[in-house]
Amino acid sequence: MPGPVGRPRREFRNYQQGILPAGPGARNLTEFFASIDEKLDATAATAPKTQRSDRNVLNLLTKRARVLYLGPANYCRFTDPSRALCLKLAGTPTADRPLVGMCDSARCPQAIHHPCHRPVWSEHAESTEIFLGQLGTTRKTERTRLQADYYRALRVVAEIDAATTTDEEPT
Ligand code: SF4
Repeated sequence: MPGPVGRPRREFRNYQQGILPAGPGARNLTEFFASIDEKLDATAATAPKTQRSDRNVLNLLTKRARVLYLGPANYCRFTDPSRALCLKLAGTPTADRPLVGMCDSARCPQAIHHPCHRPVWSEHAESTEIFLGQLGTTRKTERTRLQADYYRALRVVAEIDAATTTDEEPT
């Protein structure tokens, strides 16, 4: 299983192949990956024999990996506590680390969804849909909440798919 830097490295390689992240924090991460790409270009220019080796990528990613938290349904790029939705919900906006247990990655600006998170959201949408079908008509409050949950999961899946396919134009 990839370690804390292994997974960002894999996502960086995906980025290089046009498989982009999705979610509110995706743009920030894409810019970060672009800056790594630039640094690798600069290194290659000053040292022609230097390859874009995993070691170079690893070194650059490691510097920022400490702000990256890896969850099963999303990654969290925790660069600004004041923007962390989990901390706002918990009433601890100055904490120095996210409250992953209270993560609401579909709404937090620091959340990022990658293709590896798609199965979690897809399964969540499917199970919620089944649950909705079994719900009695009198349970309106629960139905409203589950429907919002269902649509949110579908939206995340659609965003992941869109980000994955956007740049895959034929060359
Ligand atoms: S809500 Fe989730 S993505 Fe946002 S800061 Fe908290 S753990 Fe990170």
